[in-house]
Amino acid sequence: MAYDILIRNAKVVTGTGAPWIEADIGIKNGVVERMGYLPHAQADRVIDAQGLFAAPGFIDMHNHSDLAILSYPEAGNALLQGVTTLVIGNCGFSAAPVLPERLEVFREHWARLAPFPVEITWSSFAEYLRVVEEKRPGVNIAPLVGHNTVRLNAMGIENRAPTEGELEEMRRLVAEAMEAGAFGMSTGLIYVPGVFSRTEEIVELARVVARYGGIYATHMRSESDRLVEAVEEALRIGREAGGRVEISHLKAAGRENWGKVRYVLSLVEDARSRGLEVTCDAYPYTAGMTGLSALLPPWALEGGPGEMLRRLEDPSTRRRIIDELVRGAVTGASERLAALAGWRGIVIAYSDSCKECEGRSIAEIASMWGEDPAEAILDLLLRDRGRTSVVLNLMNQDDVDYVVTHPLVMIGSDSWVAPPRGKPHPRFFGTFPRVIRRYVVEKGVLTLEEAVRKMSAMPATKLGLWDRGLLLPGFAADIVVFSLEEIRDRASYENPTEPPSGVRYVIVNGEVAVEDGELTGARAGRVLRRREF
Ligand SMILES: [Zn+2]
Repeated sequence: MAYDILIRNAKVVTGTGAPWIEADIGIKNGVVERMGYLPHAQADRVIDAQGLFAAPGFIDMHNHSDLAILSYPEAGNALLQGVTTLVIGNCGFSAAPVLPERLEVFREHWARLAPFPVEITWSSFAEYLRVVEEKRPGVNIAPLVGHNTVRLNAMGIENRAPTEGELEEMRRLVAEAMEAGAFGMSTGLIYVPGVFSRTEEIVELARVVARYGGIYATHMRSESDRLVEAVEEALRIGREAGGRVEISHLKAAGRENWGKVRYVLSLVEDARSRGLEVTCDAYPYTAGMTGLSALLPPWALEGGPGEMLRRLEDPSTRRRIIDELVRGAVTGASERLAALAGWRGIVIAYSDSCKECEGRSIAEIASMWGEDPAEAILDLLLRDRGRTSVVLNLMNQDDVDYVVTHPLVMIGSDSWVAPPRGKPHPRFFGTFPRVIRRYVVEKGVLTLEEAVRKMSAMPATKLGLWDRGLLLPGFAADIVVFSLEEIRDRASYENPTEPPSGVRYVIVNGEVAVEDGELTGARAGRVLRRREF
């Protein structure tokens, strides 16, 4: 038998959770054709993996590359971590659909979210997926449709419940995305316009998703003071819609809320024992990252970025915003992120207008500019036209460790594909090697097999990717080969774009995308679509 690639002498972690085995791996036409002892096999390319582990390529359950993959299809920061599939469309945000009459609103809305120019050349979900395909991404892409995007199409950025007609339009758009191959729907209930929606609206849409067997993934209404209520809402939506739930980036933000993750995970366990399919994902860091504008009270964001900027310029609304920020009493919102993180805990990740602000806290910037921290936030937003993003120090290490090692939690980076620049969150370059380094090698609280399962078979089975997520014959040849001694994340808050070490080879659909820890330039990813097998 002549294979395209033969990996010899690997310690194979299959992703099932079974203990590693010694085996050779024969790859042909993008698929693992045979494994085991293959002494007579011939191949165009032989990789000697003596002393190295081979595992299924990692699946990033929570990624935001919807727009970024179009400007950076090489996906270097994902590939260098051993990631071969990104689940996009999270937190209520998907890049499609975009109805022609809403094109301008989206252009403005996204200019604020994306730190790069975006040209919208698609309308339907299916068209968007074809645009991604034409870019030849370096990794596989598994899309969700976002509730915020759907709601914006149907009714703009309005703080009210939908009319029956608007709700029907949302149902139609969700169904169309599911038909086009979406794996489910996400919500982002702290962001506009999702923050304006009630539970009943989401139940209605989650019912549509459930009809297709998709998942309901949620960035919940609160990850802090009302975390428990927010988890109860997510479980209620799953029960009433008859659906399958994924709680995104589970955490407890703010000192007063630390420790709540144990209780909410017990709620998740109870819900499962009563028959609701619910799981969670998390990233292994104590800081989060979001847009600086997410710190503002939701009323200040109504009507879109243009309206927001006008409010920041108007003396009376400006005073009201500052007052709410300082008191930490953000009216009508579920989160008071600024108060929870504190001025020193809010660190600028990207700013167009102030490069020297990147990597500095709001406290530092305020003293640099000689003004109040809340004023500095508003000024920065104005100068960046709303496009500033921030790292927020919100979590407790014990909580993060508890969540990441919990058997119902898989791994999602909450990052996007990005070339090494700016001061992003270190999760962009470090998440997956960090899980192995910290929890398997250093703390010994996960076995390597468990860690790999959280990053491969768990997300694959949750999504219904029945031909990925395991390293076994018949499965797609998405493979990472690494040294357990050497694998480590090197990205830190100070140097967040350092690539990890120890990841030797990454194979995507049978093509070598990383060789000796370097990108080869292979762009072998595919757009994956939900289908019935
Ligand atoms: Zn989120």
